[in-house]
Amino acid sequence: MKQSQLLIPTLREAPADAEAASHKLMLRAGLIRQLASGVYTYLPLGFRVLRKVQEIVRQEMDRAGAQELLMPAMQPAELWRESGRYEVYGPELIRLKDRHDREFALGPTHEEVITSLVAGEVSSYRQLPMTLYQIQTKYRDERRPRFGLLRGREFLMKDAYSFGRSWEELDETYRAMYDAYTRIFTRVGLNFRAVQADAGAIGGEGETHEFMALAEIGEDTIVVSENGTYAANLEKAEMFWEEPTAADSDIPAMNRVHTPGVHTIEQLRVHFSIEASALIKTLLYLVDDRPVAVAVRGDREVNETKVLNALGGERIELADAAAVERLTGAAVGFAGPAGLAGVTLLVDREVQAMPAGIAGANETDYHMENVKPGRDFTGERIGDFRNAAEGDRSPDGSGLLQFYRGIEVGHVFKLGTKYSEKLGAKYLDEGGRRQTAIMGCYGIGISRILSAVVEQHYDENGILWPIEIAPAAVHIIPASVKDEGQLQLALALYRRFTEAGIEALLDDRDERAGVKFKDADLIGLPYRIVVGREAAEGRVEFKSRALEGKEAMTADEAFDRIAAPSQG
Ligand code: ATP
Ligand code: MG
Repeated sequence: MKQSQLLIPTLREAPADAEAASHKLMLRAGLIRQLASGVYTYLPLGFRVLRKVQEIVRQEMDRAGAQELLMPAMQPAELWRESGRYEVYGPELIRLKDRHDREFALGPTHEEVITSLVAGEVSSYRQLPMTLYQIQTKYRDERRPRFGLLRGREFLMKDAYSFGRSWEELDETYRAMYDAYTRIFTRVGLNFRAVQADAGAIGGEGETHEFMALAEIGEDTIVVSENGTYAANLEKAEMFWEEPTAADSDIPAMNRVHTPGVHTIEQLRVHFSIEASALIKTLLYLVDDRPVAVAVRGDREVNETKVLNALGGERIELADAAAVERLTGAAVGFAGPAGLAGVTLLVDREVQAMPAGIAGANETDYHMENVKPGRDFTGERIGDFRNAAEGDRSPDGSGLLQFYRGIEVGHVFKLGTKYSEKLGAKYLDEGGRRQTAIMGCYGIGISRILSAVVEQHYDENGILWPIEIAPAAVHIIPASVKDEGQLQLALALYRRFTEAGIEALLDDRDERAGVKFKDADLIGLPYRIVVGREAAEGRVEFKSRALEGKEAMTADEAFDRIAAPSQG
C-alpha cells in the first residue's frame, strides 16, 4: 500500500462532538467517517481492521464447528408478530413498508429469521445439533447512538444460533462458543472478562455471560471478586449474605418528625446526624404499570433488574413526581414503607435486618423515627433488591468485590425453547416423536471491537494497534522522497515485505518528515522503519510503536526484526 494513493484523511483535530478517545482517534487517523448519527463509513484502513476482526471471528467459529450463512436485513413484520416481538421491541426496531404496503423491519437481531429457516429445513434428530452463524449488518434505532462505533444504529455483528436436542447438548455448544469467544477476544488484543449476566425474567433458566472489554468509557459496571473467581455485571451481581442473629432490642413506637424541605439522603443524614445506613430509602416504581415500592438502606441503590425478576415483570420505570404523590399522598422525598397502601412493597433483606430506621412518613415534610421492620411494615417480598457495592463480600466467599467499567463486546445466551416453540422449530426424535429444538444465541459486536481495542491501546500521539488486527504490520517512511537513495531503499524494503506476505504501508508522500511521523503515530502500525540520512549506507531506523526508543540498524536487520522476530 502506497500512502500517496490511499484515502487516509488524517486530521489534526477531532470534530468537537467526538467525546470518546477511540472515537476521536478513529476519526483523526482516517479510519471512519460519520454519515448520520450512529451510521459510519469504514475508510480503507478502518475497513482493513474490520476485515481482520471478521477473519479471526470466522476462523474461531468454524473451528468450533459452526457453519456460516448470510441472512437478509429486511425481515417481514409477520415473522416478528409470530415471535411476539413486533410490538415489544419498541422504537429501536426500524420499521418500513414496501410498495404494496407490506410491513418490514430492518433486523436488529435474527432469532426470528433463523428459527423459521430451521423450522422449514430441519426435520430429523440426525441433523442436530447444528450451529449457524453470520457476519451481517444490524439496525437498531438506539436512543443514544454515541462514541463512534461503540454504539451505532447500523453496525456489524456476528450472530450465531445453536439448535440442539437436549439441555446437555446446549451446555456443550455453549461451552464451545464461550471458549471460542475467549480465543477471539484474546487474539484481537483485548483485556476482557467474561461475566455472569442477567437472563431476565423472560430468559427463564437461561444461563448467560457477557464478554466485557475493560475500559473507563464502558457503559456497564462489572463486579469482580479480589481473586477473580466471581465476575458478574452489576445487574446480576449478588453478595455474600448471612442471616443476622436477631437482637431483639426494644424499639420505642414510631415518632413523627417535622422535616421541612429535607428530602434527600444527604439532607436527612445531616438533619438527624446519622449514617445513611440508618435510613430506609423507599423508591416507587411502575412495573408493567403496577405500582411497586422498594425499600433499601439509605446507603444503597435499588437494583431494578432484581426487582423486575422478583415480580416476573417485563418493564420497570421510576414513578414520576405526580405518580409518587398519588401513591404516597406526599411530595417526592417523603415516601416510607410504613402505612403505604395499594402498593406492592419489596423490602431488601438489609432493611429487614435493621432494628429500626428513619423513613419517610408518606406526608410532605415529615419523616418517621423508630420505624421497625416486621412491626411497622411487612414487605410482600423480602430479598436482595440492591446493587452490590464496592467492598461487599463476594458471594463465593473469595474476598471483597471490586468494580470495573466494561464495554460489552460479546454475549452468549441459553435461550431454550422460547423461539423454537413459537416459530415451530421441531424435529422427530429417534422414536418418531415431535420435539422442540433447544436453542442458544451468541453475539459479537464486530464493529464495536474496533473501538474497544482502540480504547485500550492508545497514547497521547495516537493508536497502538495489536499486531493481529493492525491495518498493516509495518510503516516504511522515507524521510524525504526527493532523495532518490532514500526512496529506492524504502521501495526495496517495501517490495521485500510485500513478497514475504507481510503487509507494509509505504509513506511515499512528498511531505515533511515531521508530518509523516505524526501521521504514523496517529495511525499506529506496530512497527516503523524510517529511511533517512544513512540510506546510502543501507542503514535505517527501527521503532516499535509501543516502545520508546529507536534503533539504528541495517535494512536487512530491520526486515528480520519483523519477518523473523525471534532472531531479532
Ligand atoms: P448493549 O447492552 O450494549 O445495547 P445488547 O445487549 O443490546 O448490547 P446484544 O443484543 O446481545 O447486545 O448484541 C450482541 C452484541 O452486539 C453485543 O454484545 C455488542 O457487542 C453488539 N452491539 C449491540 N448493540 C450495538 C450497537 N448499538 N452498536 C454496536 N454494537 C452493538
Ligand atoms: Mg442494546
